[in-house]
Amino acid sequence: MEPDSLRPRIAVVGGGVSGLVAARELALAGADVVVIEGADRLGGRIRGAALAGVTVDIGAESFATRGGTVAALIGEIGMADQIVRPAPLGSWVIDGPRSIPLPAAGTLGIPATPLSAATVRALGLPGALRAAAEPLLPRRVGRDAESLADLVRARLGSRALHRLVRPVALGVYSADPDRLGVTTVPGLADAYARRGSLIAAARDVRDSQAAAMSDPRRA
Ligand SMILES: Cc1cc2nc3c(=O)[nH]c(=O)nc-3n(C[C@H](O)[C@H](O)[C@H](O)COP(=O)(O)OP(=O)(O)OC[C@H]3O[C@@H](n4cnc5c(N)ncnc54)[C@H](O)[C@@H]3O)c2cc1C
Repeated sequence: MEPDSLRPRIAVVGGGVSGLVAARELALAGADVVVIEGADRLGGRIRGAALAGVTVDIGAESFATRGGTVAALIGEIGMADQIVRPAPLGSWVIDGPRSIPLPAAGTLGIPATPLSAATVRALGLPGALRAAAEPLLPRRVGRDAESLADLVRARLGSRALHRLVRPVALGVYSADPDRLGVTTVPGLADAYARRGSLIAAARDVRDSQAAAMSDPRRA
């Protein structure tokens, strides 16, 4: 053990999961770490709240099993026996006064089956038909997109962007898709470059995620 005077002293600003993981890594590497958190609790956007007397997650409520990183960390900190599988109830999107079930089979809200009943309910028939035409569009449509929003608007139309992709992006990345690059969703840009269709790419990413989740080595 190094004498205290030789240990680096590091302040981590922010006690959300990023700050806490960084602080842990630094402490394990031998640093003397202080976490500075402005709020009265740790956890940042990972938190619960009581709604109508029921405690629910109002931030992150699940973690990606692909890669196994989060599961490994939970194991290392001795909480593996507290992992709860989310109930398969699906997600809902609130759009002004309407709330609609999020079409189940999609990636970041990009519908994989644009003419499914759930997608038609979400987008209306004109919006769903516009999205369904996407695989027929030439590759140049959306080529100059500078953001995820530009790409989705060009390929799938404004309804798919505003009713599906924007709310999901705000929830997952805490950022408007206008501010997200097209490479934000792991694997999506590569799949899109390969397939030339955003819908086909969304299906590929969904299928690869499903394969990762059913692989017990990655659970
Ligand atoms: C509704 C919602 C649902 C989500 N669902 C999921 C999900 O299911 N799965 C998933 O993986 N991710 C999900 N996310 C994303 C995930 O919650 C975030 O990516 C993650 O929690 C961000 O952690 P962070 O530590 O980077 O930032 P934050 O959680 O934002 O933490 C930052 C911390 O820094 C503190 N801070 C900021 N500035 C200062 C300062 N100057 N001085 C001191 N303290 C400061 C803040 O008070 C806060 O505690 C969701 C996000 C939201 C909003």
